Amino acid sequence: MQSEVLNPHRIARIQFDRAASLIDTPQGWGGMDEWLFQPEQTLMVTIPVVMDDGVVRTFRGYRVIHNTVRGPGKGGIRFHPAVNEDEVRALATWMTWKCAVVGVPFGGAKGGVCCDPTTLSTDERRRITRRFIAALGDNIGPHTDIPAPDPYTDSQTMAWIYDTYSMMHPGRNTLPVVTGKPLDIGGIVGRTTATGRGVFLATRHFLEIGGLPGLESLESAAVAIQGFGNAGRHSAAFFAEAGARIVAVSDTRGTVVNGSGIDVAAVIAHKDETGAVAGAPGTETMPPEAALEADCDILIPAAMENQITAANADSVKARLVVEAANGPTTPAADRILAGRGVAVLPDILANAGGVVVSYFEWVQNLQNEEWDEDRVEQGLAKRMRRATESVVERLATLPAPTGGEPGPDLRVAATARAVERTRATAEERGVWP
Ligand code: NAD
Repeated sequence: MQSEVLNPHRIARIQFDRAASLIDTPQGWGGMDEWLFQPEQTLMVTIPVVMDDGVVRTFRGYRVIHNTVRGPGKGGIRFHPAVNEDEVRALATWMTWKCAVVGVPFGGAKGGVCCDPTTLSTDERRRITRRFIAALGDNIGPHTDIPAPDPYTDSQTMAWIYDTYSMMHPGRNTLPVVTGKPLDIGGIVGRTTATGRGVFLATRHFLEIGGLPGLESLESAAVAIQGFGNAGRHSAAFFAEAGARIVAVSDTRGTVVNGSGIDVAAVIAHKDETGAVAGAPGTETMPPEAALEADCDILIPAAMENQITAANADSVKARLVVEAANGPTTPAADRILAGRGVAVLPDILANAGGVVVSYFEWVQNLQNEEWDEDRVEQGLAKRMRRATESVVERLATLPAPTGGEPGPDLRVAATARAVERTRATAEERGVWP
């Protein structure tokens, strides 16, 4: 049996080719497809960092700008041992499509440093961040490429990024160089919860417009969540607030379950205190993989790529998968889920709340203003609603499959929408010179 494709950049290519083949191009692509898919710039830097014990360790960092046709690069920086060039290229590609789906004027970018953040002290993280940003130099900037948080980086990391960049560019308003900053250095209210809120808003609207016949509301829907970091825990809180029953949540060390509904605030407090969800009050602890197989209506993968694969897609019991994480479902798993009638609300739509509010932060910083909570929440709700409708409408116009293939799904519809928008902008601008 042929092994499953797990390389994220190859997966991004499969998804792009599938969408491109369904887009109506009477004159053909004329080479535009290759240009739209290939990353514009891939930087790899090697950085020396003095560790707490005085030894110099060498780290590898990446920053990829996928496409700037619709605006400057935008995308997170992660610290993780699995960071590599192909992963960062894929994540940058998905950022281009995500910004286009929600209609924010950014292109796609992503970055990361290959390291194990769980073994690093705060001082070591600060030195890695500063040296990485110094190595990127003017490849990032308020009008060229704007980083944000991602796994194992947070508002503190963004503060160090801002500080490093602003030390290198004195006398200018450099606040818009990075988003996800703390509130008192130009951060915006609601950025920390924005991804979770966006996941919730997209799901609720999708159900309200009849996206999943038989499940029209979140009221008492059973929800399982894999990953309990920024995206996972805030998603859990918003779904619970709307009356959903959170039946399972997990992190790398275990899954906690309670069929009658988990007290999300108690699990958050327990995780903050002990570093893990395992053992949270009122729950039973199971292995980490149990979250993906939980008995539920909605499954929210909110951890990393390649979590739902050909090996476990058949065990997913949910009727709807909502991708809070980037790239959690492989193409082979997509086919299995589609064949079983499980809908997938794709990452480039479902988790776009983070980049929408990052965009608001960037605008706020350019104008040296402070947005209030209502303005942020209403702006986010409007964009998530519009984007969800636009993807569902595009799905309805995609051609039906031939030869027993599974029909077009929400991922191909969202990708097609994004590629069409990026292509239209590229054509209006023309290829320089
Ligand atoms: P985070 O570091 O805050 O949290 C990640 C969580 O996932 C942690 O709880 C970790 O223990 C858990 N985890 C990792 N591997 C796991 C596994 N195999 N099984 C169970 N749990 C596992 O990261 P985050 O910012 O919440 O990002 C999570 C995902 O959401 C990533 O794919 C990221 O790109 C995506 N995302 C994040 C944002 C954002 O604003 N933070 C925006 C859009 C997309």
